[in-house]
Amino acid sequence: METLKSHNPATGEILGEVEITPAEEVPNIVATAKAAQPAWGDLGLEGRAELIKATADIFVDRVQEHGELMTKEMGKPLKEAIGEAKSLGWGIEEELAEIIEALTPEVVEDGRLRSTIYHDPLGVVGAITPWNFPMSMPAWMILPSLAAGNTVVFKPSEETPLCGQAYADVLNEVLPKDVLIVIHGADDQGKAIVQSDVDMIAFTGSREAGKHIMREASGTLKRVVLELGGKDPMIVLGDADIARAAKFAASNSFRNAGQVCISTERIFVMDSVAQEFEHALTEIASVMTVGSGMGDADVGPMVNSHQRDHVLGQLGAAIAGGAEVLAGGDGHYDNFVVPTVLGNVTDEMDIANAETFGPVACVTRVSSVDEAVTKANDTHFGLGAVVFGGDSEETAEVARRLTAGMIGINSAPGGAVGTPWVGARQSGFGFHKSPDGHKQFTQTRVVTSRA
Ligand code: NAD
Repeated sequence: METLKSHNPATGEILGEVEITPAEEVPNIVATAKAAQPAWGDLGLEGRAELIKATADIFVDRVQEHGELMTKEMGKPLKEAIGEAKSLGWGIEEELAEIIEALTPEVVEDGRLRSTIYHDPLGVVGAITPWNFPMSMPAWMILPSLAAGNTVVFKPSEETPLCGQAYADVLNEVLPKDVLIVIHGADDQGKAIVQSDVDMIAFTGSREAGKHIMREASGTLKRVVLELGGKDPMIVLGDADIARAAKFAASNSFRNAGQVCISTERIFVMDSVAQEFEHALTEIASVMTVGSGMGDADVGPMVNSHQRDHVLGQLGAAIAGGAEVLAGGDGHYDNFVVPTVLGNVTDEMDIANAETFGPVACVTRVSSVDEAVTKANDTHFGLGAVVFGGDSEETAEVARRLTAGMIGINSAPGGAVGTPWVGARQSGFGFHKSPDGHKQFTQTRVVTSRA
């Protein structure tokens, strides 16, 4: 049996290995999950929720273990990993309550007809996930799929198989057999899931893989939810609180070494405050420490050498093209990239267009709000966006002109609990979380009789 070895990107140490699922076995695995679905569906919404609820305590008990595993397997600082591990158990009860409310049948009468809207299970959901949030991304898709009555075949990223397995192991302590089945491997196994008889693909990952999945799924018109990459802009208006804006820019450009789908990747700052902003951001970046996430470093390694080479390639090309290094720029070693602030970034540079997914803050000065908005919207992506400003009316107006799915005003783009996580344009479609998101994992059926 072929195995997939898991490496610590900070040290190169081999952490463990999993058996690779042969791609040709995927159809049989999907058939097994399909056979398990009717009994799982028959438990009903409340019955399934009751079972899943029991995992909350297990996740809470394993916060430290899961946090350390995430840090070792993909590099994020332990503090961030512990936060992710905590999120797995702490919100389960509330999320299940939200799912029950969203999926409970609704009766609609118009005086003549009486209809009931049901939200039935689809069947088998294929969940394919990335490595950057190696336990919460699976949770965001698998939990609502299961609660809705589907069975799930789940393929974690080949970079984080141990995290994916650890997440599924907790659920499998309470779930009936074959309701959640893990498939290990890389894109061959992902492709085999997409081509199989699953009823839906829930995918979080790159735009390129998302496009491929959509093409492949079109053959049988499989349902797809695609949560893809981004190139998030941040606008800093002339009356913004500059210290606060710079602090946000540093945290949202360098968190998880920039390997976050809603990282701030392009900053457009008004000329009048550009120098002050660049100075403040540079000061923060210059004192940030780089090292293993198991120590007290602010920034861990890139997930692998391929990702490091991509980031350093974009950086090198930008510097050669006239970008100014305000902080970082050198001192990189092994898989570690030093938090870097680039000034004078121009539209034609690759770093201004393609997703970087590294600890780089790119600053472009602009002379008007219109120019800032035009540049911010000049992208195929549309996941998150942020605007910092003082005058609340003007700042809110700028926010409404941005074409992203999630826009933060003087704060991060992610919305309040209960709101969807949603991308626009080529950042994908469909939702994570929220009542709209939960309904994606169901087939709506309307049954009507005379009132
Ligand atoms: P990736 O697309 O390389 O891989 C994601 C998963 O898909 C992996 O499990 C991989 O094995 C599998 N895969 C790859 N090609 C496939 C194919 N053709 N068919 C089926 N499966 C395939 O992405 P990644 O490098 O793991 O993750 C980083 C990307 O994920 C970034 O672009 C990031 O912005 C994005 N992301 C988006 C969100 C969001 O909510 N929108 C959240 C996290 C990450």
